Amino acid sequence: LQITLAIIKPDAVAHPLISEAIHQKILDQQFIVVRSKELIWRRDDSERFYAEHKGRFFYQRLVEFMSSGPMRAYILARENAISHWRELMGPTKTYRARYLSPESIRGKYGLTDTRNTTHGSDSLDSAEREIAFFFPEFNKK
Ligand code: ATP
Ligand code: MG
Repeated sequence: LQITLAIIKPDAVAHPLISEAIHQKILDQQFIVVRSKELIWRRDDSERFYAEHKGRFFYQRLVEFMSSGPMRAYILARENAISHWRELMGPTKTYRARYLSPESIRGKYGLTDTRNTTHGSDSLDSAEREIAFFFPEFNKK
């Protein structure tokens, strides 16, 4: 089985019915929840996690948003976990998600291109890095 790092971002956690619907989708899609925790980032965690986007026009608002309130992080296991979770999320941008993939998580619940409900690792390398970022004790096993 492959593992990936998924986040329910602060916009979705702020709405219990939405975060519950996303959690239910995870279970319906036969992901195994290996770890999960709710946490709040300091601004500095947000900056480190999104360092690859430093300099992009949306970086400041992304960093601010991701440290604005509680989020839920998961390690999810499944066949093709990385690509399957990204497919369930749908396109990054809400207007694209609504148009191209209205049943996707972002298509249904995304608010803006920044407040887009969820995150998912995009490769084996990023999954490993991101899992270590959230669950440092996990990778050492
Ligand atoms: P994520 O990494 O959160 O799963 P992604 O891989 O689909 O999303 P990235 O290009 O890695 O998209 O962007 C990371 C995050 O930055 C996006 O999820 C979104 O919150 C924000 N973001 C990306 N592009 C834009 C944009 N054009 N305008 C505003 N915010 C954006
Ligand atoms: Mg990304």
